[in-house]
Amino acid sequence: MMPRSDYISDTEWRRFMEFSEPLETPCVVVNLRTIKSNYLKLRNSFPYAQIYYAVKANPDKAVVSLLDELGANFDLASRYELDLVLSLGISPERVSYGNTIKKAKDVAYFYEKGVRMFVTDSKEDLKNIATYAPNSRIYVRILVENASSADWPLSRKFGCHSDMAYDLLVLARASGLTPYGISFHVGSQQRDIGQWNDALAKTKYLFSSLEEEENIRLTMINMGGGFPASYIQPSHDLSEYASEIYRYLTDDFGDEIPFIILEPGRSLVGNSGILATEVVLISRKNNTALNRWVYLDTGKFNGLIETMGESIKYPIVTSKDVPGGKEAEVIIAGPTCDSMDILYEDYKYRLPVDLKIGDKLYILSAGAYTASYASVGFNGFPPIKTYIMEL
Ligand SMILES: *Cc1c(COP(=O)(O)O)cnc(C)c1O
Repeated sequence: MMPRSDYISDTEWRRFMEFSEPLETPCVVVNLRTIKSNYLKLRNSFPYAQIYYAVKANPDKAVVSLLDELGANFDLASRYELDLVLSLGISPERVSYGNTIKKAKDVAYFYEKGVRMFVTDSKEDLKNIATYAPNSRIYVRILVENASSADWPLSRKFGCHSDMAYDLLVLARASGLTPYGISFHVGSQQRDIGQWNDALAKTKYLFSSLEEEENIRLTMINMGGGFPASYIQPSHDLSEYASEIYRYLTDDFGDEIPFIILEPGRSLVGNSGILATEVVLISRKNNTALNRWVYLDTGKFNGLIETMGESIKYPIVTSKDVPGGKEAEVIIAGPTCDSMDILYEDYKYRLPVDLKIGDKLYILSAGAYTASYASVGFNGFPPIKTYIMEL
């Protein structure tokens, strides 16, 4: 049994149980109070930074609207996310087009809607931005190594080497764009705070060399996301990230810290969600097998894709949990006809021995990268629904 109280207060748990009682499973219940408190905590921890919420983590309208009211800006990856944000009355000036992979017509679309801040990490993309978003501010994403200490790494695919970043910013100026700054993402659920130090050292080098050699004065650092939500694998408290990162910044930049942007996704919404699911089947693979297989009514294709490689280990509680109750190891799997749809087999979850078909499991910290990742209808299962618990 997981110590539920490590993840959610008794008050909010009772509120959740009451709210979710009549809902059909599977579903994700998102608590706006938690997001608000996460946002305020982040803002207090990084008072000098501007927050750009990475909408992909949870694009629910209620979530985006709440963060809008709280004063957040938005990091977007597609024109569909832009349509969503604009439909809620959010100004394009509070938007960054943060995807390095985009079509020329997507750049044009963002520009036409009023967005003037773009990321790039390649020459071809930069050319498109110069052509279809003239005079915009441009920042370059640099490569950072983060494979081992991030539970959900974002390395290799995004960013370019510092030498290329340098060339791109020189080219940006020559193409009529405004060289604005450097971005990086140290990997999602990054548990090694030192990764920000390495990335900031590279950033500092680019700031200095571009100013000295090219007279290009960058003013912004986008430190990406990567701040943790609470899962089974322990991570430092946000306040520790904040104090360490502030120390790196002052070590590198002294009193003249550039304009700082953060792009949190997981850390803002992760622990706001609980995924409620029901046990469809419990079985053993032979008469003397020790392990039970517990099949749920949702799985990898309907909200739990981040169990891929058992990367994210969600805290799980059940309707049968009692203090000191007897538990045994299980293998947890989803309901679809794909053998990839096994959630946890290597990592041994222990569930109550008297767990029965029809009992409920509550997957905690499931507010980020769950509903937005659900398939549209594999095996006919509709995408998992989100329900909002208001402030
Ligand atoms: C996904 C993403 C984020 C959010 O990352 P988290 O680790 O969820 O905070 C931020 N910036 C960019 C560019 C991203 O792709």
